[in-house]
Amino acid sequence: MRFVNWSGSLAFTPGERAEPATEDEVCDLVLRSREAGTTVRPVGSGHSSSPLVRTDGILLSLDRLAGVIRGDGKLATVWAGTRLKELGEGLYDAGLAMDNLGDVDYQSIAGATATGTHGTGIGFGNLSTQVAGVRLVTGTGEVLDVSAERNPELLPAVRLSLGALGVVTQLTLDVQPRYELRRRAWCAPVEWTLDHLAELQHTNRNMDFYWYPRSDLTQVRTLNRADDRSAHRPWPTPRVPGSGPWEDPRETRVGPTHRTIPRRRDLRFEEIEYMLPAEALPACFAEVRRRIRDWHRRDVGWRVLLRTIAADDIWLSNAYGRSTATIACLQNTSLPYEAYFRDMEAVFRQYGGRPHWGKKHWLTARELRPLYPRWDDFQELRRRLDPDGVFLSPDLARLFEEA
Ligand SMILES: Cc1cc2nc3c(=O)[nH]c(=O)nc-3n(C[C@H](O)[C@H](O)[C@H](O)COP(=O)(O)OP(=O)(O)OC[C@H]3O[C@@H](n4cnc5c(N)ncnc54)[C@H](O)[C@@H]3O)c2cc1C
Repeated sequence: MRFVNWSGSLAFTPGERAEPATEDEVCDLVLRSREAGTTVRPVGSGHSSSPLVRTDGILLSLDRLAGVIRGDGKLATVWAGTRLKELGEGLYDAGLAMDNLGDVDYQSIAGATATGTHGTGIGFGNLSTQVAGVRLVTGTGEVLDVSAERNPELLPAVRLSLGALGVVTQLTLDVQPRYELRRRAWCAPVEWTLDHLAELQHTNRNMDFYWYPRSDLTQVRTLNRADDRSAHRPWPTPRVPGSGPWEDPRETRVGPTHRTIPRRRDLRFEEIEYMLPAEALPACFAEVRRRIRDWHRRDVGWRVLLRTIAADDIWLSNAYGRSTATIACLQNTSLPYEAYFRDMEAVFRQYGGRPHWGKKHWLTARELRPLYPRWDDFQELRRRLDPDGVFLSPDLARLFEEA
């Protein structure tokens, strides 16, 4: 019965665990909860470390509602419980691919899009921007279809909804004909990476970098379409003090998107990630770097990841209305994280940052509301679709309702 998330920092025992095999069963579970006055929290693969899924009511998994339902040249409809790895393989078999992906492929598609999971690339929105339609069971047990044809005005809300508007049973995704990507990674002094950052971001399809606090070195990672010859200008790998130019041969490979973008993660970690206005990145990163080196280096064993996300118009997206740069601090789960993350959160907030919904943060409705121009519209819709608060666990109430 006990639920433990991927990193191990969120553990609880729900009142009941349910794995419905049909959408009708989902409706029945929601109606039963509504009558009993308990909460339902949908759960994906449990990769979030914020307490979005914690409940003493029903923890509802869609693991049995998984797989690609249909796909044509531009759109694919999938069951919400489909894990990203299976999604990638299913789309590939149908000659299709997602436009972009995050760093791993363990999440469910509903869980990933519910929190605005993102990859990198200045031309790419988060995964929620690839959602063209949603089918969900609302708090009254009704099935609601949202797409360009049906209830289109709700699309900017349901594409990223933290499981607060209903249980998503199916998603329709914008997809591409499948293609191959080439991945490269090399090591560089941090000054080199910062000096070349704009050029690296603009001349590669996807670019991000890790900064290693102990060595003050970076690992630059790029992805380009394998068939795009113009994108393969070989970046001169800079000299790394003490070792010369260093490119990681394990990272250099070509393959389909779903096998090239995500990576394996064997070591467990905690993470805080904030989304910043792109123009705030240099100053914010300088402050993060200074504080880690001056105050936290003794306790910080892990790296910091910097990525980009294109602006979007999704009400609760942390890239809403602005080109976004992200900074993520990772910490091995065997090391203390809270003092370090809280200090970083204070820096991120100074620069107008919005927290990743699925990672550690300490914001509540009072601090979140001013960050999202469409906040009140989302809350109004939430109260309309879930009038009795079936999905409003105490943790979600802290996020959405000002005390
Ligand atoms: C190792 C690791 C790597 C990661 N890499 C990245 C990355 O590269 N980029 C990034 O942005 N994030 C990343 N994350 C964060 C992760 O993508 C998000 O936390 C994501 O939400 C997890 O998906 P999940 O399927 O585990 O969902 P869960 O964590 O189980 O749930 C997340 C949210 O989705 C809701 N939900 C789940 N299923 C449904 C449904 N059927 N209907 C309605 N709501 C639903 C839940 O209620 C909850 O609010 C990473 C996390 C880990 C642990």
